[in-house]
Amino acid sequence: MSNQPAARLKLLATLHDGIRTCTACRLHRTRTHAVPGEGDRLGGIMFIGEAPGAKEDLAGKPFIGRSGQFLDELLAASGLDRRQIFITSAVKCRPPQNRTPKDDELDTCRERWLENQIELVDPSIIVLLGKTPLRQVLGEKKGNLAELHGQCREKDGRQYLLTYHPAAGMRFPTARSAMQQDFLALAARSSPAEDA
Ligand code: SF4
Repeated sequence: MSNQPAARLKLLATLHDGIRTCTACRLHRTRTHAVPGEGDRLGGIMFIGEAPGAKEDLAGKPFIGRSGQFLDELLAASGLDRRQIFITSAVKCRPPQNRTPKDDELDTCRERWLENQIELVDPSIIVLLGKTPLRQVLGEKKGNLAELHGQCREKDGRQYLLTYHPAAGMRFPTARSAMQQDFLALAARSSPAEDA
């Protein structure tokens, strides 16, 4: 991998072009647009959600619906904003009726796209939003987010922070409160260099 930011951004753009035309799993049949992700801040914070929803599918952009608004509120309340973050999802195409992605879809999208995306963005920390990316990226299928949220993991030299998906934070006050704590902790551990 090139260490030059311009070269990495160019490779990332090429990778995203590939995602937009990907037909590697069944989810391509029902999508309107694939949603590769957004953000050109390399080496900073990366968020991984579950999958595009209806609005994201129509626009080809991540987290632009109600979950996205809630995410922006959480970020603002903790002193972070989206410009500090590269944001993507476990699968890049909307599952029918917003069902949970299946294991083979998660595996295919991770091997084909997400692993390369992580290498190119090279984040200092990756925030896993909910149990789906936790299962996909770290292989953890057991456990309750009420207990797991706020915990950090290290895998292959990368740091991961576990928290809820914003959709859960919108619905359940305990999840909202947990996310507020986790985002404050995330802001506190972001280095001054990343905020420059
Ligand atoms: Fe390709 Fe991922 Fe979309 Fe499946 S979800 S078609 S692997 S981009």
